[in-house]
Amino acid sequence: MQTGKVNFSWDTKGISLLRDNDRIIGVRAKRLRDGKEIDYLARVVILATGGFQNNREMVREYWPKDLPFPERLLLGGGSNSVGSGHTMAKAAGAQLQNMSYQWNYSTGLPDPNLSDQRGLNAFSQQSIWVNKAGRRFVNESQDMKTTFPAVLRQPGSTYWAIFDSAARGTFFVSGGTARRSRAVSSTIRA
Ligand SMILES: Cc1cc2nc3c(=O)[nH]c(=O)nc-3n(C[C@H](O)[C@H](O)[C@H](O)COP(=O)(O)OP(=O)(O)OC[C@H]3O[C@@H](n4cnc5c(N)ncnc54)[C@H](O)[C@@H]3O)c2cc1C
Repeated sequence: MQTGKVNFSWDTKGISLLRDNDRIIGVRAKRLRDGKEIDYLARVVILATGGFQNNREMVREYWPKDLPFPERLLLGGGSNSVGSGHTMAKAAGAQLQNMSYQWNYSTGLPDPNLSDQRGLNAFSQQSIWVNKAGRRFVNESQDMKTTFPAVLRQPGSTYWAIFDSAARGTFFVSGGTARRSRAVSSTIRA
C-alpha cells in the first residue's frame, strides 16, 4: 500500500533527541554527505537504531556481572550496532534497562577481513572443545547459554575445536564482514 506518508532520509545520522520539557519532540540529525544538521520534529519518536554489539566499550560497560570479561573480545552485530540510540536516549534522560542481557557467541573466530577485530561464527557439531591444558570442559552440543560461560571460565577464555577429516564437511563458518553488514555477535577466540 502506498500512502506517500513515509519519507526516507538516506545517509543521515541521528545525533540527539530534541526535548521540550519532559517530552521528546524530535531528532537532530546530521546529513553525512555535507555535515548539515537538520531537526526533524514529530509527535512520536521511535528509536530503531539496533543494538550495541559492535561497540566494545558498551559491551564491556554492560557486561553481565556474574561472568568474567574475556582477555580478547571479537565484535559482532551489524556494523552500525554501536548503541547510538541508547546513547541519545541516555543523554535525553532515559534510564536504560536490562543492558546486561547480551547475546554473545562461544563459537567465535577472528574475521581475517577485518584485522581480526570482528568475529565469524565457526562450529562443527562433531568437534570436541579442549582448553589450553587439552581438557574438555563442557558438553559442546549444549545451548550457548551453557557453553558461553563455560568458555569464559577457561584460561585465556579460549579453546580449540578438534575434529577429524571425516567431520570436515560439518564445519561451517557464518557471519560476515562489515561490507555485508551482518556478522556474528561479540564473542571470544575459538
Ligand atoms: C550474530 C547475530 C546473528 C543473528 N541471527 C539472527 C537470526 O538468525 N534470526 C533472527 O531473527 N535474528 C538474528 N539476529 C538478531 C537480529 O539481527 C537483530 O535482532 C535485528 O537485526 C535487530 O533489528 P533492529 O531493526 O532493531 O536493528 P538493526 O537491524 O541493527 O537496524 C538498525 C538500523 O539503524 C541504523 N542506525 C543506527 N544508528 C543510527 C543513527 N544514529 N541514525 C540513523 N540510523 C542509525 C543502522 O544503520 C541500522 O540500519 C542476530 C544478531 C546477531 C548479532
